[in-house]
Amino acid sequence: MATIDDLRFDNRFTRSLPADSINGTNSRQVQQACFSRVKPLIVDHPRLVAHSAEMFELLGINSAEIQRPDFVEVLAGNRILPGMDTHAACYGGHQFGNWAGQLGDGRAIGLGEVIDTSGRHQMLQLKGAGPTPYSRTADGLAVLRSSIREFLCSEAMHHLGVPTTRALSLVTTGEDVVRDMLYDGNPRPEPGAIVCRVAPSFVRFGNFEIFASRGDRQTLQRLADFTIATEFPHIEDPDSGRYVSLLKEVGERTADMVVEWLRVGFVHGVMNTDNMSILGLTIDYGPYGWLDNYDPNWTPNTTDAQHRRYRYGRQPHIAQWNVVQLANALYPLVEEVEPLQEAVRHYADRFEAKWSEMMASKLGIFSLNDSRDRNLADEALSVLQVVETDMTKFWRELGRVDCSADLDPLERVEPLLGAIYPRESATRPQVSAFVDFGQRWAARHRELGTDDVERRMSMDAVNPKYVLRNYLAQLAIDRAEQGDASMVEELLDLMRRPYDEQAERNKFSLLRPDWARTKVGCSQLSCSS
Ligand code: AMP
Ligand code: MG
Repeated sequence: MATIDDLRFDNRFTRSLPADSINGTNSRQVQQACFSRVKPLIVDHPRLVAHSAEMFELLGINSAEIQRPDFVEVLAGNRILPGMDTHAACYGGHQFGNWAGQLGDGRAIGLGEVIDTSGRHQMLQLKGAGPTPYSRTADGLAVLRSSIREFLCSEAMHHLGVPTTRALSLVTTGEDVVRDMLYDGNPRPEPGAIVCRVAPSFVRFGNFEIFASRGDRQTLQRLADFTIATEFPHIEDPDSGRYVSLLKEVGERTADMVVEWLRVGFVHGVMNTDNMSILGLTIDYGPYGWLDNYDPNWTPNTTDAQHRRYRYGRQPHIAQWNVVQLANALYPLVEEVEPLQEAVRHYADRFEAKWSEMMASKLGIFSLNDSRDRNLADEALSVLQVVETDMTKFWRELGRVDCSADLDPLERVEPLLGAIYPRESATRPQVSAFVDFGQRWAARHRELGTDDVERRMSMDAVNPKYVLRNYLAQLAIDRAEQGDASMVEELLDLMRRPYDEQAERNKFSLLRPDWARTKVGCSQLSCSS
């Protein structure tokens, strides 16, 4: 295990791609360049709030290093290590369906690429470390509440098995940042914070779109060739076929990611093309949320409340729309529509196949190939909507439903009824829907002859007991803003093993309390962060 002074950087991104020729953070349109060199701001009193032990291990950094005050200076951007090449990337994007032009890393500064213990390059990036040429009128800073959300959720998603960017550390800067949290004319000072994010690449769909939109074929091709060489080195097709293969693989990874979101009840909240990772990683944790009661129309993002473009159930469709935008961006390198269309269709096929696999696994069966099993999946999703029902609890408890033939039907579904908000509110017909589903599910398992213990174990491995419920994250934030970060630590630790019972922490698996139903931060979030 290394000390921070032993860290070796191999900065492929900034070494291989064209840089902005202008220095400084003046807001500007950056032409024919993939990034601009920029330094993080110096902050007053950086203080470590939390770190991810797993990320230290992955990067091969000795965990004792976290005690070093000069390491915290690195994680806050005050100290630049030899070998780092600090920069902000240039990208564009479609926001809420409209082309928004140049966006770029407005408050993210890449530090450099470390080679992790498995030999993979990992870009370190500080989010909230000050302005860049892409900050437009904003300040380049981030506040504690949104940084806690990003830090915790990155690590939670990883342990849930969802592809994601990671988080190494969370520091407070000791400086206040003014934010109007709900955009309602009530700005207030909030503690500033910086998350150190980590991913093999932070390239987004929007990195390609910006060059295509400007007709800058040369930079577009350099970025595409670089991405293939570094992240998809197995793509060996000659000529333009390589870009089609790139699109196909990105589509595949995107489909796989969205299936995982649906499995655990995650709503990203801002699926703009600048927030879509070329690696199919969940990226840019903003006004995301977790379904408590299963409502496919729900979005946590108040900025999107009217059209609900990015609601839970629409995520597969939006991801495809985004893949189409990437296809458009790659078109100048391919100049043929049909192969790109084919790659987009591949997204849909991949999504369907993976979704079926995922749903089957949640139900404890092998596939949905049999139409009876397909119907069972549909029925589960409709029962979840008969009355307000907690998604996480429902699926977890399904693994505990007894399949024996001679059981009283109502007694059988008792564990599932505990997922209703609240149990007493369920009417007879609603309870009947649960009973009917329970009867059919149990009968099917008797027919398939699944083993009780094996079934429960396999279901428990895909139906988490714990997710980062919105209200839990908010409680951790409320306390951290008062100077007590212990709940951040506790949730981080809880989410290390989301599929384990952790009986002593049962309270974190309970249904969302009623007070949190409409509370800001628990059910409603804006993009202000
Ligand atoms: P987001 O909706 O968070 O993905 O951000 C969209 C764009 O706005 C990106 O280019 C961000 O870098 C930029 N941005 C968001 N917040 C800030 C901020 N506080 N300062 C500078 N740029 C920001
Ligand atoms: Mg973003």
